Amino acid sequence: MADLEIKGLSKAFGGVKALQNVNFQAAKGEVHALLGENGAGKSTLIKCLGACQSYDSGEIYLNGKKLVVSHPRQAMEAGIGIIFQELSLIPNLSVADNLFLGMKLGNKTSVTRKKIACQKARQIFEEFQVEGIEPEQKVESLSLSEKQTIEIVKVLSRNTEVIVFDEATSALTANRVEWLFGLVERLREQKKIIIFISHRMGEIRRFCNVVTVFRNGQNVGTKPLEEVENDELVQMMLGRKIAGYYPEKVNTCREEIALETKDLFFEHYLDQINIKLKFGEVVGIGGLAGQGQNALLLALSGAVRVQKGEIFLGGKPVSMKNPKQAMAQGVSLVPEERATEGLVLELSIADNLLLPVVSHITRWGLINRKKEQELLEHAVDSLSIKVGDIENPVNSLSGGNQQKVVLAKLMMTHPKVLLLYDFTRGVDVGTKNTMFTLLRKLAADGNCILFYSTDMEELVNVCDRVLVMDQGAVKADLSGELLTEENILKASIGDGVA
Ligand code: ADP
Ligand code: MG
Repeated sequence: MADLEIKGLSKAFGGVKALQNVNFQAAKGEVHALLGENGAGKSTLIKCLGACQSYDSGEIYLNGKKLVVSHPRQAMEAGIGIIFQELSLIPNLSVADNLFLGMKLGNKTSVTRKKIACQKARQIFEEFQVEGIEPEQKVESLSLSEKQTIEIVKVLSRNTEVIVFDEATSALTANRVEWLFGLVERLREQKKIIIFISHRMGEIRRFCNVVTVFRNGQNVGTKPLEEVENDELVQMMLGRKIAGYYPEKVNTCREEIALETKDLFFEHYLDQINIKLKFGEVVGIGGLAGQGQNALLLALSGAVRVQKGEIFLGGKPVSMKNPKQAMAQGVSLVPEERATEGLVLELSIADNLLLPVVSHITRWGLINRKKEQELLEHAVDSLSIKVGDIENPVNSLSGGNQQKVVLAKLMMTHPKVLLLYDFTRGVDVGTKNTMFTLLRKLAADGNCILFYSTDMEELVNVCDRVLVMDQGAVKADLSGELLTEENILKASIGDGVA
C-alpha cells in the first residue's frame, strides 16, 4: 500500500458527480502534481482528504492506517495540512493572531497571549525565512501575495505529514514562488507527502516529479513528469484535441480614442502616466508584480482618486469619484480578488448577474420577468458558463466559472472600456480559451480592453499592444514585431528594448 492511498472515493453534489470512484496514491518524498480543468474535481478530492467535506463512498489510508476523521482539525491532527487558494485569514486580526487561531498558547491573559503569539510568529518567520511581514500587522494591510504567504506558513508550522497546495501559488509574486520552491525542496527532503495543484506548467515542471490528471471527476492517469510532454497533459485534461489555445488575433482597432490619461500621478504608485487606448483595441499591461498596475486600473475605474492628472473618455475630461460613477460612464473593472470584490458568493448565479442592472428591469417596484429571463439567457450563452441551475449559489461553481460570472455581470452594463486585473489567475486552459475568445469578440464589437496579466505568454498572444510598467511608470509600449516575451521581460527589469 502506498503511503497515502485513496480508494474508490465518490462524491456528488445533487446531480453533479464531482468525484467518481477515484483511486489515488502518493508516496513520501514525492511532489505530486494534480492537473485538470476547472471543475475536474481536484479541490473536492482535497477537501475530502482534509475532512472539509464528507464523501459518499470510499476510503483513505495514511501509512496503512484508515483515516477516520470528521472535522478539519482532526484531519490536521492526523497529519494532513491543506493550503487553499481561497483565503481563510481573518482580515481585522493581526498576522500572529491568525497564525495561532484556535490554538492554546498557555493559560494566559490576552495581553501576554498577544506577546507570546508575536514571539512565536517571529520564530516561525525565521524558520521559514519569511521577510517583510510583521507579526503585529493586521492581515487586511497585507497584499494578496503576503496573505497567501501567511496561509502557507500557518499550515507548514503545524508540521503535518501530508501537505497540499491547492492553487496556493497563483496569488504569489515571482519572488515568493522562488521562496516556496526552496521550502518545498526542504519538505521533500524531510520525506513529506506533497500534493501540488497549479495551472502553471512551468511551476509544475520545476516543483513536481509525478503528475495525476483529473477529468470530469475521474482520475485519468498518473505519470512521472519527465515522461510526459505538455501537449499530452493538455490532451489528457481536455480529452480532445484543442484547435488552438489562443484565438486568432485580428486587428479590430478603430481610429477614435476611447480612453486617454494625462500625467496621472499618485505618490509611490503612479508616475506621470500618459496612455491612449482606442476602441476595438486590446491593450495589455505587463511588468513585474507590484509596479503600479493595480493602482492604474483602480484609478481608471474610479476606485482610487489620483493626486494629479486627468482622464478622458471619448475625448472628454471626466471625473469619476467612485466605481459606480465610472460604470455609469462606461468603465468597468474586474478586480483582483474576485471572491471578495466581484461576487456575492452566497447569492445565486442569477442574482449576481442581475445585481448591476436590476434598476433597469424594474418598474414601479416590479421586476420585468421576461426581460430578466432574456438577459440571463444571453449572459449564460455568450460565456458558455456551465451552470447546473442558475438559482444555485455562486460558490457552488468552480473558480474559472465564477470568474466568467464576474465577466457576464459586467457585460450586463454594456461597458465601453473594460479593465481586467489578472483575471485568468488560477483558471484552466479550457476556460482561458473561452475567455480570450470572448475578449477578442468584445474588441471586435468596438470595446476597448485594458488587460493586466502576470503571464507574458498570454499578453503576447492576446493583446494588440502591451504597456510595460516599472516603478509606477510606463517604460515600454510594444506592438507588432517588438511584442515578444523577451522584450516585455527586458523592459520589466529595466533593460531597455533595442
Ligand atoms: P476543481 O478544483 O478541479 O476546479 P472542484 O472540485 O472545485 O473542481 O469542483 C468539481 C465539481 O463539483 C464542479 O462541477 C463544482 O461545481 C462542483 N462542486 C464543488 N463544490 C460544490 C459544492 N459545495 N456544492 C455544489 N457543487 C460543488
Ligand atoms: Mg479547485
